[in-house]
Amino acid sequence: MISLNPYAYLEDVFPDVEVRAADLGEDWGLTVWDDDGTPTVYYAFDLGEIQRRCVLWHEIRHLHRGAPCRQRCPNDEADCREETARLLLPDIDELGRAMARWPAKIAAERLGVLPSIVDDRVDNMTDREMETYRAHFAGVRIERTSAACNGYGGPKRTKRDRRHPCRRVA
Ligand SMILES: [Zn+2]
Repeated sequence: MISLNPYAYLEDVFPDVEVRAADLGEDWGLTVWDDDGTPTVYYAFDLGEIQRRCVLWHEIRHLHRGAPCRQRCPNDEADCREETARLLLPDIDELGRAMARWPAKIAAERLGVLPSIVDDRVDNMTDREMETYRAHFAGVRIERTSAACNGYGGPKRTKRDRRHPCRRVA
């Protein structure tokens, strides 16, 4: 089981990668590879704890996948988002319970992640995971959950080119 502390994980697995707080404007996080292939992770200096944790795990996925074909390649981003959501929300029962009980924003907070992480997890569920997830909503009034992650709509999987060069890492 991996440690869910991103700082410890970065120290263990990527001890040579520089991680810097910076003013990123609208962005929350960014990994940049220089010409000799050395990556540097940047995160916005003004993030809250949950934001920073989610951003760092997302950037860790980028480190594992390596430099994309171009900055912000949509295929690479979609894969990093899916992988981050799976990593931070591994337990479908726990997610289903929280989402059936609380409004989506509160459920996310309860689970220690950003609402967008919940969305990414729900959007990329396997059919079997969706079945498990939906079971928690039996008898729950629909207006208690958000439209984006209400457990009723089924996964709206991001369309991706599975042979795209940025998919080289499993
Ligand atoms: Zn990214």
